[in-house]
Amino acid sequence: MNNTNIKDVVKICLNCSKPISGRSDKKFCSHQCRSELSNHRKKNTKTEDLSMRIIKTLQTNRNVLEGILKNKRQCLVDENYLIIKGYNPVFHTHISKEGKRELIGCFEFGIIRCAQKKIKIIRAHGNEY
Ligand SMILES: [Zn+2]
Repeated sequence: MNNTNIKDVVKICLNCSKPISGRSDKKFCSHQCRSELSNHRKKNTKTEDLSMRIIKTLQTNRNVLEGILKNKRQCLVDENYLIIKGYNPVFHTHISKEGKRELIGCFEFGIIRCAQKKIKIIRAHGNEY
């Protein structure tokens, strides 16, 4: 006969995995464990939110560059025009060299800062950026 009572089932703390004694609906061994897990989850959510915001910003940047470049290999625009279109210059995916100049990459596109606040937008071809 199986006399296992709900109260006898060993429960473990959701935070530290120690066995829990006492009420059967307890989920944590201590208040400390309860708040530790809660803080950990909040921190993870914040990190995920931040990652998602950065990814969205990068995608927006990419779409702005693609929208301006269309099917051209490269083009020259005013820096302000990029900003107006919604490009956020703080975020990029990589940095490489295009000749002597720095190429600021955004996925398969890149920008090069030129004289008089002009920006050259370049589309990568093959593995080149
Ligand atoms: Zn615990």
